[in-house]
Amino acid sequence: LGLLCVSIDLDDIRCYHAIHGLEPPKGETAHVIYKKALTRAARFFEELHIVSTLFVVGGDLDGKTGDSAGAILRDLAQSGHELGNHTFSHRYDFTMLQVGEQANEIDRTGEMIAARSGVRPKGFRAPGYNMNLGVIALLAERGYTYDSSVFPCPLYYSAKAAAVGIKRVQGYHSSSLIGDPRVLTAPHLPYRINEEEGLWSRGEGLKELPISVVTKARLPFLGTSLTMMGRLPAKILARSAARLPFVNLELHGIDFADADEDGLGYLKKYQPDLRVPIAQKQKTLRGVIKTLIDNGHEPVTLADAAQRLFI
Ligand SMILES: [Zn+2]
Repeated sequence: LGLLCVSIDLDDIRCYHAIHGLEPPKGETAHVIYKKALTRAARFFEELHIVSTLFVVGGDLDGKTGDSAGAILRDLAQSGHELGNHTFSHRYDFTMLQVGEQANEIDRTGEMIAARSGVRPKGFRAPGYNMNLGVIALLAERGYTYDSSVFPCPLYYSAKAAAVGIKRVQGYHSSSLIGDPRVLTAPHLPYRINEEEGLWSRGEGLKELPISVVTKARLPFLGTSLTMMGRLPAKILARSAARLPFVNLELHGIDFADADEDGLGYLKKYQPDLRVPIAQKQKTLRGVIKTLIDNGHEPVTLADAAQRLFI
């Protein structure tokens, strides 16, 4: 009856350090996402018989450790998962960079993914849900078929604005960017962007596949918030999501990390989602995904959905 797209943004631990104003991680900690979390995610998807879209940060495929990360991605791509572009260095101020730098962030990642996995990405997701028309134009010029960065969630937006404000009051620097509030007026279901009027207006341009919000309150339908609320409340939200013809469930690599097993205990005080053990997080996500599939949603990649939803 509907389509279910599950995606994972493969933000590495360095990104969380940047959000919380910490020094970059060292040693094994820096590679938890590719070395531990992605392997768990792959097994989880296999067990549920679903395909996903993985948004890759190009910089993670650079250098020596990039070889093994690339090999995992290549295997996943061969078993039907999609690889999308999540910029080269995951800068939270990506939309504020000069056009040349933005183009470079997009192109280097596209090339890196193609070189390591043999597939050219068709889809894009911006860091921290901050997008603008300039970047949309760059994607269209390069033949990308869709963007999936719009997240019209008032609760998330105000929480982010508050968190960035608190950090500032405390004298810390947070790399998060608050973004344009007009994104909250964007359609909740896939639409074509109006490249003259705004990211949030319907038009005839690039396809946008917004990240899902559910119920009248437009609550976030994200891995992090679902795993924190626990299995039963998450299932209730999943039943509400099941009424939508298109569900875009966004997960992050960190949803498949375990603070104790992966040496991330020190991050628990900043990232409450890390206080939940991996077995419990997977139980919640399994319940959510199964609810949607049992209600007739077909699991597909975002690229597939982009092709099937627009004629
Ligand atoms: Zn990200």
